[in-house]
Amino acid sequence: MIISPSELQEKLKFNEQSLQVGVYFHYPFCQKKCPYCHFYSYHGEKKDHDLWRQTIQREINLLAGEMAARMEIDTVYFGGGTPSSLRPEEIDQLLSRLGENFNCNLKEITLEFNPGSHTPKLAGFKQAGINRLSLGAQSFSEKILKILGRLHSVEDIFAAASEARKAGFKNLNLDLMIGLPGEDESTFEANILGIKAIGPEHLSVYMLEELDEVPFKQVLEQNPVSEERLVETYERYQKTLSELGYKQYEISNYSRPGFSCRHNLKYWEYQPVIGFGPSAASHLAFNRWQNISDLKLWAEVILEGKLNLSELLILSPEAALKEKLMSGLRLAAGVDWELIKEEYPGLDFLPYEERIRELSAAGCFEMSGSRLRIPSGRFLVTNSILGELLF
Ligand code: SF4
Repeated sequence: MIISPSELQEKLKFNEQSLQVGVYFHYPFCQKKCPYCHFYSYHGEKKDHDLWRQTIQREINLLAGEMAARMEIDTVYFGGGTPSSLRPEEIDQLLSRLGENFNCNLKEITLEFNPGSHTPKLAGFKQAGINRLSLGAQSFSEKILKILGRLHSVEDIFAAASEARKAGFKNLNLDLMIGLPGEDESTFEANILGIKAIGPEHLSVYMLEELDEVPFKQVLEQNPVSEERLVETYERYQKTLSELGYKQYEISNYSRPGFSCRHNLKYWEYQPVIGFGPSAASHLAFNRWQNISDLKLWAEVILEGKLNLSELLILSPEAALKEKLMSGLRLAAGVDWELIKEEYPGLDFLPYEERIRELSAAGCFEMSGSRLRIPSGRFLVTNSILGELLF
């Protein structure tokens, strides 16, 4: 769907006068495609990178022209792909362009960082304004890194973390994948030792999802990991990380006090985020849209002053409520039920409350004050609990 920014703005109809908004930049290039990856990313050539760089600046101008007056940007997230392939000057340029076009009061600027060859750029990234680094460690076991088809080694992770600290990064995240074939006692121990040695402020410990169209599906089919094993592994990390002083604040995310990821909280708390770059998704009030997942088609249209979207959804209040609950109930803090009722006047909450009562009796929900949440012991069955509540 090709749409001009002013047409988009007209359709969006959001009433708020001043919104705190997160910005997501999608940089879609990687040295090599990992076999489990379902993101829009590929091995781009220099001309693709140049096209991305040129176009993303234009995209910032286009959207700002229509929306900037009523927004303040407080978080930025460079994701991908491998945005650590960008040069620090390019990050600096993008942040400057954002600041020229939007009212920015940036509290958190995250860069996803692949351990390995980009490590010498860390001091430059810090200088460019990055204040949170998300290291795609994935595992501290060479065996698992190999199974995952990663290009970096365990040594690269330690080197990146140590350089990051030297460069002055005080907010480090480690991404780790669990529930994989080949995991055993030694891989668990290696991960915990790695976490202890680096002492990151934040951890994302996640399981593989959306495997239908990726080559890793075959690896898992040939070496299946049982449900029982998944539960055991997940709960073991929950317990050990809690003993190490990390608080689980979302199904897959843990942090030291004060270090939960502000940007990702926007997704879970259903706050506005504007995405730039091919395949980047945006959410604003009752509206959601996504850029087309194709660099050339995205760029061609932007350079003509329009947007090329693969999806534009204007949600009904009921659909928006469901989305809000689906994301908010992933959080350990859950959602404020009374506040939600005020935010969605006119909806009939009685059927929901009836189901919440039944599900609470079965141990699937807890209500404390007005906060409704799924107990952490039931996190792994969140999807089926949400299915019971919402559909
Ligand atoms: S590095 Fe990340 S984005 Fe790139 S292919 Fe691997 S998992 Fe996907």
